[in-house]
Formats: sequence, structure tokens, C-alpha cells
Amino acid sequence: MLKKITNVRIPHEPSSSLWDIAIQDGRIVSVDPHDSSANDHAADTLDGGNRLIAPSLCHAHIHLDKCFLLQDPKFSDLQIENGDFKEAMEMTGEAKSRFEEDDLLRRGRQLIEESIQHGVTAMRAFVEVDGVVQLKCLHAGLKLKEEFKERCEIQICAFAQLSLFSGQDAGAEVRKLMTNAASYEEVEVLGSTPYVEDSLPKSKENVQWITQLSLQHQKHLDLHLDYFLDSHKQPLIWDTLTVLREQHWQEKANNKQITLGHCTRLTLFQKEDWARLRQEVAGLPVFFVGLPTSDLFMMRSPEKVRGTLPVIEMIYEYGFDAAIAVNNVGNAFTPYGNCDPLSIASLGVGLYQAGTKKEAETLYVRTLLTVPPAPLNAIMQETVSSRAKAAIGCESTSLGLVPEQPADFVLFDNIESGWRCRKSVVEVVYDAGYRRQTVYRGRPTAGVR
Ligand SMILES: [Zn+2]
Repeated sequence: MLKKITNVRIPHEPSSSLWDIAIQDGRIVSVDPHDSSANDHAADTLDGGNRLIAPSLCHAHIHLDKCFLLQDPKFSDLQIENGDFKEAMEMTGEAKSRFEEDDLLRRGRQLIEESIQHGVTAMRAFVEVDGVVQLKCLHAGLKLKEEFKERCEIQICAFAQLSLFSGQDAGAEVRKLMTNAASYEEVEVLGSTPYVEDSLPKSKENVQWITQLSLQHQKHLDLHLDYFLDSHKQPLIWDTLTVLREQHWQEKANNKQITLGHCTRLTLFQKEDWARLRQEVAGLPVFFVGLPTSDLFMMRSPEKVRGTLPVIEMIYEYGFDAAIAVNNVGNAFTPYGNCDPLSIASLGVGLYQAGTKKEAETLYVRTLLTVPPAPLNAIMQETVSSRAKAAIGCESTSLGLVPEQPADFVLFDNIESGWRCRKSVVEVVYDAGYRRQTVYRGRPTAGVR
């Protein structure tokens, strides 16, 4: 356990100044100007070597059980032929029928390990629960949660990817298994996928049922919502918010949160729709999580236009709380990309056209009253760090590195990087590089100086 990290650059100070961070019991005690006379070589001191230190990263939304299906030899016969959503569902369904504890642990462990190397210290991991996999994915997820507890906070979401009210037995088996999963104390989140139901009334029933189950067991709720890009098809978000109000989430949930992932259909919203959404969300602890790499690969309108939740605009223009996340790694839903949340932040520079300093300043000034006073790119970094942690109800460390916050950090580059080393969060968002060191609750968990 570290007591000090010395000689580091920090986000909200000029890159020419160096700082020392004192840590006690895994929390920040103070951040002071670097004292060069202090002993940087003590066993409980990490010499930062002029590197930039920032809050550690988070996967607000990642599928632990279906990662690396395209890489694991066990599933090598399942490769992408068409690259569409139907094939991804079928291929994943076939793979799921072969899931066993050994491959679930092997693939999941790889994903968590690679994520920690990239600077991740918290994640919401989705594990599927249905008649095909029964509780195998959940049990493997819980084993990994325990195995990594000293290095990463793994929040388990028991998740019904298949329908709860459609199909052969009208979802009865999935509901039974989900009810069982909900009774596990170590399961923090319950989730479902209303868009897989075969009619609108059943999609609503799906939301009602999972909301009720979450309230009954006092779990966070996470819905994969409106994952389509067709203006003729109405989004389910309005009914979902109605259900949440009707079931008195605010009064009954004991500060548990509601996270809405994907929401690709909202891309087609006009100003008045956003304003209405802002009004209807008011008072509910709703967080949005955009999953741009999956959207880009899987979603397009009938006119072949791509779309993904405009996360930056939602934060700045409408004051929503939103994050961005990786979603899938190495499967037919998202075959490209890696476990690095910063690769999504970097993609965001292009996606949201948020790259120049001028744009950042303009956006900053325009939204001064509704968002924390930080430049745009800092906010973007925060969409994969502290805002992402907030989106899943985890305690987070802010860019200001405030005393009493958790000592959860990532350091960039290494001592030998010279002038090319990242000196600011903006540089990190442009190109984070691959050398990192991760610290979780004051404990170095990956990487070397
Ligand atoms: Zn997902």
C-alpha cells in the first residue's frame, strides 16, 4: 500500500509544476507542491518521474461473458460472415450453448487483466442469465469479482439479453432464473433488453417486470434500450420513464440508479424531444451510457446514416448525466477495438467533432452554468473516468484530485518518454499512448514506471 506518489503532473495545474500526493488507507490525504528533498525511494513511495497522473478509468458497460469469442480457440469456427445484428445474435447464441466455466473464466480474466493494464479500476460487468447458460455466466462472474477484488471493483449485472415475455415459454424460464439471480447479495445490478421482445406491449411488460424486481431487491437497474436507428419506430424511453415514475423509483429505490445503455434511437431526436426528455428525467437518477463502437458497427438508418448517442451535446446542451463505454470486446456485436476506455474517448473527438481548443472553449462558455467548469476534453476524459463511475454508482475520484477521494489513479507514459510524454488530459484524449501504471485504493495494480 502506497503512502505517497511523488513528482507527478496533475490535471488542473500547469504542466510545468510537479506535485506530491499523500495517501492514507487508500484515500487521498493531500496534494502538495513537490518536495525534492523528500525520500522518493522509500518502499511505500512511488516516484512518478514527472508523469501525468489522473483519476483511473472505468467500464460503465462491458460484457464479461461474451468477450473474446472471436479469439478464443474454442469458438474458432464462429467467424463473421455477414456482419449484421441477426448474425451476431445467432453466433453469440451458438457460442453461449457451449459456454463452460473454464472458458468463461479464461476469457473474463483476460478482459479484466487487459483492462487493468489500461488503467481501469472499476467496471459494470454484464453476465447473461437465461435457459441456455442458466447461472453459469453469473457464477463465473462472481468468481472473477472475488479473484480481482484487491485490484478492481467489479460490479456484477445479472442481465436478461433474451426476452422475458416472448418466445416458446413466453420468457417464464428467464424470469425464474433472473428472480433467482436477484436474490444474490453480490449481484449489484439487474438488467434486461426490452427491444428483443416481439411486440411493444411485451417490451413495456419487460421494463415493468425488471423495474419491480430491482426495487424489490434494492438493486441498480440497467436497461439496453432503443438499440435501433429507424425514425418510423418509436423509442421506448417515454414508456420506461413512465414506468419508473409509476413504480415510485425515487421514493423506493434507496438511491439506487437507473442506467440506460445504447439508446441509439435518441440520435434522431429534435431539440423539442431533448427538452421533453430533460423534463421527464427530472427527479430520477437516470444516467445514459453511449456505446459508440457498437453503434457504428451494427446500427444504421434505412438511408444508411450512422448514429450514436450525442453524449457531449447531452451533457452540455441539456444537462444530462452521461458516459461512454466499450460494451463488447472481440465478438460479433463489436469485433474491433480493445479494452481501453480511452480509445472510446479518443474516438469521441471525431464522433462529436470536439477536437479543437476553440471548439472546446466555445462549448465551455456556452455551458458554463450547467456543467462543472472544465474544458471539453477534460469532460470527455471524465466520461470514461469519474462520470462513468458515477453512472454505475461507484465512488469516483475527480480530475481535481480532492482529499478524501479514493486513491484510484492512472499514470501515463514512462520516465523515458521525453518531450512526447502526455502533459495534460487533452493530450491523453487525443492519443493516450500505451504505457500506463494503474493504482487502485493506493495499491499499484499494473504497469511499471
Ligand atoms: Zn451491452
